[in-house]
Amino acid sequence: MVTIEEALRIIEDQNISLKSESKPLEGALGFALSTNTVSPFDVPEFDNSAMDGYALCGLYQEYQLVGEVAAGDSKDIKLQDGEAVRIFTGAKVPNNATAVMMQEKTSVTDSTLFLDEMPKVGQNIRKRGGQLTEGQTVFEKGHILNPPSLALMGSLGLSQLEVFSRPRVNIITTGNELVKPGEPKTEGQIYESNSYAISGALEQFGFQHHQKTQIRDDFEATKAGIKTALESCDVLIISGGISVGDYDFVKQSLDDNGVNELFYKVFQKPGKPLYFGRKDNQFVFALPGNPASSLTCFYVYVLPLLQKLSGYGSYGLASYQFPIKHAYENRFGRPSFLKATVVDGKVEILDGQGSSMIQSMAKGNALAFVDDGEVLKEGDLVRCKLIS
Ligand code: AMP
Ligand code: MG
Repeated sequence: MVTIEEALRIIEDQNISLKSESKPLEGALGFALSTNTVSPFDVPEFDNSAMDGYALCGLYQEYQLVGEVAAGDSKDIKLQDGEAVRIFTGAKVPNNATAVMMQEKTSVTDSTLFLDEMPKVGQNIRKRGGQLTEGQTVFEKGHILNPPSLALMGSLGLSQLEVFSRPRVNIITTGNELVKPGEPKTEGQIYESNSYAISGALEQFGFQHHQKTQIRDDFEATKAGIKTALESCDVLIISGGISVGDYDFVKQSLDDNGVNELFYKVFQKPGKPLYFGRKDNQFVFALPGNPASSLTCFYVYVLPLLQKLSGYGSYGLASYQFPIKHAYENRFGRPSFLKATVVDGKVEILDGQGSSMIQSMAKGNALAFVDDGEVLKEGDLVRCKLIS
């Protein structure tokens, strides 16, 4: 049995070699860049107008109107002192313009432009290179592409991005009692639900599962199912069958498939029977079958590994400290990840902390970490991982 910190350290310390690939801009969200990016040109590439209005030459309150420039126009207008042109947002500002006045502060009579106030030098002109200059580093290797990053890469004219590949994930669920939702079930059976939480949580962080298999509690079937799943994945996530019951065949089947145990059992609640192993460059998590345990272990342990394998520099759920709304004592005898809600900057520990109870987790939005035996009074700070 290892502590939570030891388990996380073992995951963190895994040596891995990352693979990279080229991704079109549209499919690159959430991927980490595998190379540094430098700007191929100045951004913006030319002085342009921040407003719909008038580009002015010299500082006056009255100008002679001599033309118009719209966004996308490439004509080069040269203004004389005291002249102005109609201009629109994003349009190239004439080289010798002093300022742009927004149209709301102007009036026009015949071809004379009147300003309500004196313009200021450079006003409403977005200068060439104001955001980036040619050759400047835009992003370092490892930067995770969020929507504004995609916009910036697009604005640099880059249509294909070099990114770290994401791991291929397979899921195995085990249990004779499990029936697929929508199918008839008999007494003693339950509907299989863990795989939906796992595939949903994968999707939540931009991962996909490649294959999902249901295996009955039988040693040979478990061994064969693991062997097949390992043929097509980088990370295998197994649910159930990892405890010490007579029908728990996962541990032995992993050993027999040449998977080396890195840790088995973590001093925590929920999720004590968690297993983590490795075979060459493939990783296996066997999650406890209880629904809340299984998903909690996914968030706390599987997600960091998946992100590490994707070239992320930092991993895991965002974690913050919040004051607790009520007194609380952890009497579970183990450090606990408790189902909780964070609202208006305060955390509330929910009823229904049982490992099989998923409703409280579904209604909450956080896992609150409370140490073994810790006694909290209202207002004490609690570290929370936000799950949604
Ligand atoms: P196990 O870890 O296989 O001993 O399972 C522990 C508990 O979790 C049992 O009550 C199982 O019925 C339940 N369980 C295991 N796998 C699943 C699953 N995929 N979906 C829903 N419940 C499950
Ligand atoms: Mg089972």
